[in-house]
Amino acid sequence: MSNESSVNPVTYIQDQQLAIVGLNSAPVNALSKVVRIGVIDSINKALAEDSVKAIVLHSHLALFSAGADISEFSGGDLSPMLPEVLDVIEQSTKPVIAIVGGNAFGGGLELALSCHYRVTHAANKVGLPEVHLGILPGAGGTQRLPRLTDAKTALDMIVTGAPTSVSKLSGVFDLIVDSVDDLQSAAFDFAKQVIEQNMPVKKVCDIELSLNSEIETLFEQYAHGVAAKTRGFFAPSHCVKAVNAAFTHPFKDGLAREAELFMECMKTPQARAQQHFFFAERAASHVRGIAKDVKPRSIQKAAVIGAGTMGGGIAMNFANAGIPVVMLELKQEALDKGLALIRRNYENSAKKGKLTSEQVEQRMSLLSGTTSYEDLGDADLVIEAVFEKMSVKKEVFGMLDKVCKPGAILASNTSTLDLNEIASSISRPQDVIGLHFFSPANVMKLLEIVRGELTSDDVIKTAMKLAKTIRKVGVLVGVCFGFVGNRMIEPYGREANRLMLEGATPEQVDKVLGKFGMPMGPFTMGDMAGLDIGYFVRESRREFIAHDPSYCIVADKLVAQGRVGLKVGKGAYLYEEGSRKPIPDAEVIEIAKQEAARLGIAQREITDQEILERCIYPLINEGADILKEGIAAKSSDIDVIYVYGYGFPVFRGGPMQYADEVGLAEVRDRLNYYKESLGEYGQHWFTPSDLVNELADAGTTFASVK
Ligand code: NAD
Repeated sequence: MSNESSVNPVTYIQDQQLAIVGLNSAPVNALSKVVRIGVIDSINKALAEDSVKAIVLHSHLALFSAGADISEFSGGDLSPMLPEVLDVIEQSTKPVIAIVGGNAFGGGLELALSCHYRVTHAANKVGLPEVHLGILPGAGGTQRLPRLTDAKTALDMIVTGAPTSVSKLSGVFDLIVDSVDDLQSAAFDFAKQVIEQNMPVKKVCDIELSLNSEIETLFEQYAHGVAAKTRGFFAPSHCVKAVNAAFTHPFKDGLAREAELFMECMKTPQARAQQHFFFAERAASHVRGIAKDVKPRSIQKAAVIGAGTMGGGIAMNFANAGIPVVMLELKQEALDKGLALIRRNYENSAKKGKLTSEQVEQRMSLLSGTTSYEDLGDADLVIEAVFEKMSVKKEVFGMLDKVCKPGAILASNTSTLDLNEIASSISRPQDVIGLHFFSPANVMKLLEIVRGELTSDDVIKTAMKLAKTIRKVGVLVGVCFGFVGNRMIEPYGREANRLMLEGATPEQVDKVLGKFGMPMGPFTMGDMAGLDIGYFVRESRREFIAHDPSYCIVADKLVAQGRVGLKVGKGAYLYEEGSRKPIPDAEVIEIAKQEAARLGIAQREITDQEILERCIYPLINEGADILKEGIAAKSSDIDVIYVYGYGFPVFRGGPMQYADEVGLAEVRDRLNYYKESLGEYGQHWFTPSDLVNELADAGTTFASVK
């Protein structure tokens, strides 16, 4: 049908008795105002033309429609709204047949559901992902979908927002052809049949649903499960209520209930946060200041130096993406161990049904090992993941400088070391970049891409593109200690530790931050990562913290006693053999008590509110400095790093969005409060960042910093 396409966002042609309406609004057929007007006009035109007996609605693009134009969420004159458009379609006296040739998501699927017949192909997927934006389908999706399929399927789709294969949606499509290639002719045959057989205008709104005890029980159980599984999120339980309304209300009233629940969601800080995050993630891939015509380098072959915890995971990302990767260790034994661990990881995935055994072998065949640098000569990209020591890194980069081909990208996975120092130690600093993966590197989505002083633009562009290839979310950051993520986590951990000296317990602190939405509190996280990791970082920068004798002192004492966390069964908590469940330990509280007495810190009862503010606001304050220094280009980049790298609750949008929501004047005032009330300690650590002061004075937000 491409021959009828034009620049019109909605095309209309008549072919004998059929009116053919085409969605043609690249790139994703977002249902913006012009499209909505175009659809209504087309339907009305078809209705006015006597010779038209049926209407076909299709897409000129590969997908049917990605749904609402969410840039319209900020308001304006949006009339006609989508529900109005769908009502015009549904009430059409001539049958409307949707040819769903590609993905139909959100409003796109709701559009198809308002038609009288739907035709698609077996490999297609559709979905209602609104819940990811903190809302629910607001154009009849919660009322029409359960009328076509069953309550459980509708609930699953709407509550999880997951794309669903059309073959799993019994009742929704009138015809599912095997191959997309046959769809067009089959769909037109179907439309002809509708006309010839005078098939009825089948309105979904006319289908009557009612509640029976089985469905009632399903809703009760579902609501219960959702509350537990989506702890902290507002929209999922509203989704359940909206679908329930389809069974308890006549269609029109159900739509009204859906609209009411939709508005309740839309007004929440969560909806603002999740919509902010949606844009933040997309914005992270747009790097300012790099010319459009800069071409990324080609990455056909990768190498990883060091087959330890990170090296193995990093290598897996390449094998998963079909890129051959060679791992280098100095000793064969370490290499064998690394490769064996990767195989075990893949085999575990196969056991869980996530991979077939052929896929395991295919991925393993892309992985090879060497102990000789000579074998790295043809690599387009080398990522170093050896011990975190400048002398070792420099030695490795020196070797790479000798053996790698010109134009090879030389990357470091360092967490804390100065990338510029590494780069300047070799003859090609322009090819050096930081690729900071998070552990486990094959799982965590975040990739901090660290731009050195001399890193060339095409290397940055290549890294941003590579992130997508290996299915990571790449965020460009500058060089500083800990880059963005770890630099901001430092004050968070510091305060958690200090609160323990002042009288809070690890479980109280963890509980408060868990309730806030963090996947685990700082003490559980520390135990899991290993308290020795933080200790080594502190050791490397004692000069910066020496002025504060209380700095993570309990953690230092625990490490000194060999209590390095989960791996040894004790850290800030105790762990039973084979269990990851933290058990509070009175001994740790006693250490804190003794240290507090030694340092002259009075212990007291600490409120949950204080715990939250003292852990989160200094983290935000550090984020403000990072923004001011240009280490992060925009506050939304910091949010992406925190949600994907640290599990910061997406329903809060990330730390910077959270601060914007709380209000920067409030953040500043609370920082100042602790600065004054915590004596010398407060003076050291709680001075509001210049940027926080500036923005609070101006009554504006981090998001406004462009
Ligand atoms: P690791 O100790 O598990 O692995 C390091 C590996 O490098 C070992 O297998 C070792 O044999 C090998 N190695 C050491 N020197 C080498 C050399 N000269 N040539 C070749 N191989 C050598 O350490 P890791 O946790 O994987 O950390 C590696 C790097 O990744 C560090 O820079 C670390 O800061 C960074 N990092 C670690 C994490 C984490 O959570 N573990 C997260 C992000 C970044």
